[in-house]
Amino acid sequence: MTKAAAAAMGSIRHPNLWPPFTQMASAANSQRVVSGEGALLIREQGEPLIDAISSWWVTLHGHAHPVLAKAIADQAARLEQVIFADFTHEPAEQLAVRLSGLCGLQRLFFSDNGSTAVEVALKIACQWWANRGQPRYQIVAFDGAYHGDTFGAMAVGERNLFSAPFEDKLFPVARVPWPTTWWDDDAVEAKESAALEVLERVLETPTAAVILEPLLQGAGGMAMVRPEFLRQVETRTRQAGALLIADEVLTGFGRCGDWFASRRAGIRPDLMALSKGLTGGCLPMGVTMASEAVFEAFVGDDPCLTLWHGHSFTANPLGCAAANASLDLLERNPAAFQQFEQRHRPHLERLARHRKVQHPRLTGTVAGFDLVVEGSSGYLNPAGPKLKRLAMENGVFLRPLGQVVYLLPPLCISDAQLERCYSVLEKALDQL
Ligand code: PMP
Repeated sequence: MTKAAAAAMGSIRHPNLWPPFTQMASAANSQRVVSGEGALLIREQGEPLIDAISSWWVTLHGHAHPVLAKAIADQAARLEQVIFADFTHEPAEQLAVRLSGLCGLQRLFFSDNGSTAVEVALKIACQWWANRGQPRYQIVAFDGAYHGDTFGAMAVGERNLFSAPFEDKLFPVARVPWPTTWWDDDAVEAKESAALEVLERVLETPTAAVILEPLLQGAGGMAMVRPEFLRQVETRTRQAGALLIADEVLTGFGRCGDWFASRRAGIRPDLMALSKGLTGGCLPMGVTMASEAVFEAFVGDDPCLTLWHGHSFTANPLGCAAANASLDLLERNPAAFQQFEQRHRPHLERLARHRKVQHPRLTGTVAGFDLVVEGSSGYLNPAGPKLKRLAMENGVFLRPLGQVVYLLPPLCISDAQLERCYSVLEKALDQL
């Protein structure tokens, strides 16, 4: 039996499940995963798979990490949940102090995932202007951005196939080009100048906030920009008096080689959305960090000043315990994320010479490139699924974004496993 046939035996199409981002008429069956072990996913059938994309960019320290598992179990035995409007608890307080210290924004507002963390940031930004009696309506976002799938997050994201059915429900947003760059990109400065010109023009309209994914647009195609560009954006945003929102849902917690991509880029946002790696990737949780200056505008006798927003599971103690344990692991070994770029580099340099590879790029734990493809480039390009299948047959789980291929592994991946990812990728490229 071929490896592919063996793997297919363990695949299922469940009659009661509706999977995300999946067209059931054409999708391959799902494979049942029974456990995880570091960078590996253990399937019911077939060999272990290297999870080279950290299960949608969340798994930071590896699957079934004993430290995180114990922190969650201990917390579950003490206090699993409590309404956060009237009570507080130690894991939430500890997390707030630690995150404030790390990102330099004093106030932490809890929600449930990346989309809600962005929604909250947008609501805070808009209400901040209203509370101060100077309402501003314009939001500025970048071409190619992805900020989540709830309505506000969709509105600020690039309008595409995903958002098309809801177009009439999405608020208008001013758009600025995202000057994506890669190794040996001669045109980067011209792209940045053109983008800044557009930014300056749109900022002539009073603007509530500018939202961006610092250093790296994830779902938009692992599209990287230079820190210099972000610093220019920050300067112009400040000159216009607008708030700067950093969506660090993907880029936070070491993903871009520093604690936060903003920090690596040298920018200081007013609001920051965090999720994914927040809990080490084991429990769903989002937070929106805000500066004290932002927070202060919500404090006063008038009930209208209040941020009337909350979720049932606000500050869930299990999520907070996982997040604190994850921070312990990161603090104990920051080299794991600070030095990841060096681990990728020699592999990516070799792969970059392949005739099917263009626009290689790297930041922190994230390495990517574009396939040289026929037909239109974009999310639906068939080269991506083909490459995914070839890699899967050889024990590596990838999920290209159309023609964009990337590796975004958990920090715990061994050198041998990382080497395997690249060699499988190279072999798959030969077969494409
Ligand atoms: N912002 C960014 C930058 C993201 O990458 C994502 C998810 N991929 C989100 C927001 C939305 O997060 P979630 O899927 O947890 O709602």
